[in-house]
Amino acid sequence: MTDLSEKLKNSGLKITPQRMEVMRYISGTLNGHFTAEDIHEELKKTEPTIPISTIYNITRALSEVGLLKAFEINGRMVFESNIETHANFYCTSCNEISDIAISSAIKESLIPHNFVVTDISLILKGVCNKCNVKEIAAEA
Ligand SMILES: [Zn+2]
Ligand SMILES: [Zn+2]
Repeated sequence: MTDLSEKLKNSGLKITPQRMEVMRYISGTLNGHFTAEDIHEELKKTEPTIPISTIYNITRALSEVGLLKAFEINGRMVFESNIETHANFYCTSCNEISDIAISSAIKESLIPHNFVVTDISLILKGVCNKCNVKEIAAEA
């Protein structure tokens, strides 16, 4: 049994070929971030008639059991398989999303005394290092 089907099984969700496909696609790209439309495009290659509502249902189910993390950027839901606490950096220049590690010290400093935090979602927006280097080069 593969890792992914094991994860699905342990989550209590029924293993369906479509859920497996979505998991495989999202987990296949290290630190990848995907919208439902991205996933839809990919799954249509093998299943041309799959409706986008199926993707919405699958990503919702997978997020609910904690196999995927979901967050919103510019009104669009973005999904990722990196469920460790991290910040997501959104570059307004190239639209890329990159993962930024959060140290446990920062994590602790965010949590007020006697509060219980079950989820942390941090989104940073700005210009990524690649785009920033390009801009500096263009100005020189
Ligand atoms: Zn960028
Ligand atoms: Zn991320």
